[in-house]
Amino acid sequence: MSVRVVARIRPLLKLECAKDTIVEGSPAGAERPGSPTLVRIPNPKNESESFSFQFHGVYDQEATQQEIFEKEISPTVKHLFGGFDVTIFAYGVTGTGKTHTMRGGKSLADRGVIPRLLSAIYRRSRKIEKDSGGETSVEVAMSYYEIYNDRVYDLFEAPEKRTAAGLPIRDNGGKTVVVGLSERTCWTLKEFEQLYDQANVNRSTSATKVRHLVLDRLNAHSSRSHAIVCIKVTQTSPTQTRTSTVSAIDLAGSEDNRRTDNNKDRLVESASINKSLFVLAQCVEAISKKQSRIPYRESKMTRILSLGQNNGLTVMILNLAPVRAFHLDTLSSLNFANRTKKIEVNEVENEPVFRAANGPGGAKPGPAHVSGANI
Ligand code: ADP
Ligand code: MG
Repeated sequence: MSVRVVARIRPLLKLECAKDTIVEGSPAGAERPGSPTLVRIPNPKNESESFSFQFHGVYDQEATQQEIFEKEISPTVKHLFGGFDVTIFAYGVTGTGKTHTMRGGKSLADRGVIPRLLSAIYRRSRKIEKDSGGETSVEVAMSYYEIYNDRVYDLFEAPEKRTAAGLPIRDNGGKTVVVGLSERTCWTLKEFEQLYDQANVNRSTSATKVRHLVLDRLNAHSSRSHAIVCIKVTQTSPTQTRTSTVSAIDLAGSEDNRRTDNNKDRLVESASINKSLFVLAQCVEAISKKQSRIPYRESKMTRILSLGQNNGLTVMILNLAPVRAFHLDTLSSLNFANRTKKIEVNEVENEPVFRAANGPGGAKPGPAHVSGANI
């Protein structure tokens, strides 16, 4: 099974002009009008030519949050409850709609992938509990952290409580785990939403205190950190316990910061962001060329994502801005995505832990599974 790669082209924003539109989605063949799978973009060196890239799906400016969720994310929920891990990540330049896609806005229609996913998980949990006549129970636990300058910070911790070095990570039976990451059980969607909103405040007001996304997009803290939500679903019946995890990742902006006029402080951060996404690109290239050495260990983000190793069913959403101002960065995102779609991923089935029917002590503990690690 390969990584499923879908592109989403965002609408024009207020200050953008229709005449600067250069990226468009189009159907791959006349036989399927209305379902684009190609993205077209001019060759920057010769605009009379265009490049096209094919993906598993392409969503244009008209696509709603609901449509993205129903077509791309909703089908993964079944796998999750079947005991498989799922990874969903948004990749793209700052300002292309990654956070809009993953988190979205406050109104019901604007909600992004993550709140919709949780809503679907609770709905399915309640159904499973009801259908089993109350014999099976489902517990949903969440952890949420960011990777910033190659350091891992728990987003349930207030920024002032962070240690500069961040949390360590280590390998645990083939999965990378974040040591000391907190995990919160959320019994209802409402509980989840409260925790998620609070944690997002910790993300946007952390360390650098940069809050202004509009005036200086590139300066925003959130553009330079990877935010990772892990949802652990544990299903317990009288005979077994099964745990699986879905990880939803809003990656840092993939822009090439060498093209911007950075001051000295920013350069350190940019270099580091560049580094983890650069290492990711190298990993993707090495995997697609079937090389034996994949440089996962060269950044924390790639160790944690471990694309093509043990991240389970994987969906990548490539966010694109339609306008010329993003031309070169858009092209490099498209090239990255093109290589990513060739990566084979393993479906990781988490073995259920069975209980002895009448054994002393009754239930065994659930599977050894450290929060936030399983991506
Ligand atoms: P990123 O996280 O990739 O930096 P954002 O999600 O912050 O980008 O999006 C940049 C801007 O574009 C925001 O103002 C956001 O509301 C808007 N935007 C992005 N995608 C869409 C969309 N599909 N529909 C409407 N507005 C969008
Ligand atoms: Mg963002």
